[in-house]
Amino acid sequence: MKENLNPFAIAQAQLDEAAAVLQLDPAMHAFLREPMREFHFTIPVRMDDGSTRVFKGFRVQYNDARGPAKGGIRFHPDETIDTVRALAAWMTWKTAVADVPLGGGKGGVICNPRELSQNELERLSRGYMRAIARHIGLTKDVPAPDVNTHPQIMAWMLDEYEILTGKHEPGVITGKPLELGGSAGRGPATAMGGMFTIREAAKLLGIQLEGATCAIQGYGNVGSHAHRLASDVFGLKVVAVSDEFGGIYNEHGLSPDDVTRHQRRTGKVIDCPGTENITNKELLELDVDILIPAAIENQITSANANNIRAKIVAELANGPTTPEADNILNDKGVYIIPDFLCNAGGVTVSYFEMVQNAYQFYWDESLVNERLDKKMTTAFHAVHNMAQAKKVDTRVGAYLVAVNRVAEAVRLRGWV
Ligand code: GLU
Repeated sequence: MKENLNPFAIAQAQLDEAAAVLQLDPAMHAFLREPMREFHFTIPVRMDDGSTRVFKGFRVQYNDARGPAKGGIRFHPDETIDTVRALAAWMTWKTAVADVPLGGGKGGVICNPRELSQNELERLSRGYMRAIARHIGLTKDVPAPDVNTHPQIMAWMLDEYEILTGKHEPGVITGKPLELGGSAGRGPATAMGGMFTIREAAKLLGIQLEGATCAIQGYGNVGSHAHRLASDVFGLKVVAVSDEFGGIYNEHGLSPDDVTRHQRRTGKVIDCPGTENITNKELLELDVDILIPAAIENQITSANANNIRAKIVAELANGPTTPEADNILNDKGVYIIPDFLCNAGGVTVSYFEMVQNAYQFYWDESLVNERLDKKMTTAFHAVHNMAQAKKVDTRVGAYLVAVNRVAEAVRLRGWV
């Protein structure tokens, strides 16, 4: 039978497995299986040639029992409502496992940002905010960057929101440029948080990080920062990286500076001098100690999971591994650091950003990283200990920790 790759079906199946272990009350299970609210809207955008194009946008507020919904906005040609629902569900489990007082949400626009000029991108970003402004807010739902959205887009969205409300409210969106109230360390935060979990997993498995080999799939904000931190801060040898156009390999390690410079110049990592081009498929199947999927969903499936040779799979992407692939990797003894634990560093520093905005008092990067390390290390061990205690894999362990916390908040509120 062909594998079901619908991300929301996958997110629901993962929850179902955890609900069975927890013997979750059926009404609670039914409630947590669905988003609480979702918004579908059109965004008309005046294009540079004078024509108007209508884009489709979504915002899903999956669950806000523990606090305002929180999660990024993606701009992607393959965006679907089910992808946004899945990502919003994963944000709910992510904020719970990281133990920050927020719920889960996600947004998306079906568009190809590569085909848009800067001005068109700005009008689309402002249009998104105009469509959703009345439904978000500091105490309701706080967006952030995600795939193909960056601090400049957050700045335009913040400005549009503040024009509409007539007030300064920087905490309404996170991942902002520093000049507009962004947090030090927010750029590398997802990668940094993931590296802290890799450090903890390596300790448990007796893997020496210094000189351990690593391959990274994806070279956007998360993958490129992961390359730099893995090489420069944690002493790993990153032998392969890739983006959507393909990958590069050098058995002696790839320099983050060289690859970043080449990617800025050509828009791709392939053909970087001193490296060998490889395919994304080859990258995933390399004989490395640590594999970091840092791109998009459904990259490790039943079709390639058997060929994965890494000892640790650290999921900096959201939803990179399908449930069938999960079973295969677990049977092979691969240690998976599941996505909503591994990549929780981004939203954790987003929460720090909201706190700093509220106090109008800003921390330096070393304080941000110290606090991030504490949160990530605590979350990692909560998940690992839960998995050991209940004799389940790490993903189910992460679900048990997260679902317990969300369900308790729902119960205390008397919703179910
Ligand atoms: N988009 C990031 C994620 O998937 C960060 C979300 C946020 O900071 O709210 O975790």
